[in-house]
Amino acid sequence: MIHRRTEEQIEAMARAGDVHARCLKMLGSKVRPGVTTAELDEAAEKFILSQGAIPTFKGYRGFPASICASPNSLVVHGIPGPYELEKGDILSIDVGVTLDGWIADGAATFPVSEIDPETERLLEVTHDALRVGAAQMIPGNRVSDISHAVQTRVEAEGFSVIRSLVGHGIGQAMHEEPQIPNYGPPGRGAEIEVGMVFAIEPMVNAGGPGIVMDEDGWSVYSEDGSMATHFEYTVAATREGPRVLTPWDED
Ligand code: MG
Repeated sequence: MIHRRTEEQIEAMARAGDVHARCLKMLGSKVRPGVTTAELDEAAEKFILSQGAIPTFKGYRGFPASICASPNSLVVHGIPGPYELEKGDILSIDVGVTLDGWIADGAATFPVSEIDPETERLLEVTHDALRVGAAQMIPGNRVSDISHAVQTRVEAEGFSVIRSLVGHGIGQAMHEEPQIPNYGPPGRGAEIEVGMVFAIEPMVNAGGPGIVMDEDGWSVYSEDGSMATHFEYTVAATREGPRVLTPWDED
């Protein structure tokens, strides 16, 4: 079953999303050479708790931290630790915020100082794929219209969508129905209705689409070692169209 939230519930999710967006912006401002991913995790946890919210990821299925911190060929679910960021790295930060029982989930990949032009393009294309995917969050569309928009944008630029990792419905649980793949033909799957809220999250490799799971049971790497990116919003379908509840990229 795909939940449909009331306007009041969407406002509650937007409040969680506001904490989320300010947290992710704050983390992005701290991304620089010499910073460790553990320091970013600590800053995230401190900020989220200071807002009266809960870091959703901490303890989720045993995950040990408040953010996922995934540098370079790490696609998602990197565990924060002693790794010091270096100039030319990229870092994907994924964070979840629970406020009054409602969850906001979102991610972005940040450049560490200057990065090479091809990696810069990878970041821009994945961010843009998120925007075009989210733009399909319109009542009357179908779930795979999102998938198709993401895939089309990414593959037109010669990059690869990861197929085995998907977006999801979100609300009072982090992962709800439906699953939202980042590939596929348009016009398939459930019809999007007013009040549905999805976490849309393109995960893209610069090289081939393959991934490998690390022996830590969490870290997912690109199989060919190429740079990997992850951008995510929590988005509601409203009568007025898509509403991004985690606007971390707005001023
Ligand atoms: Mg997610």
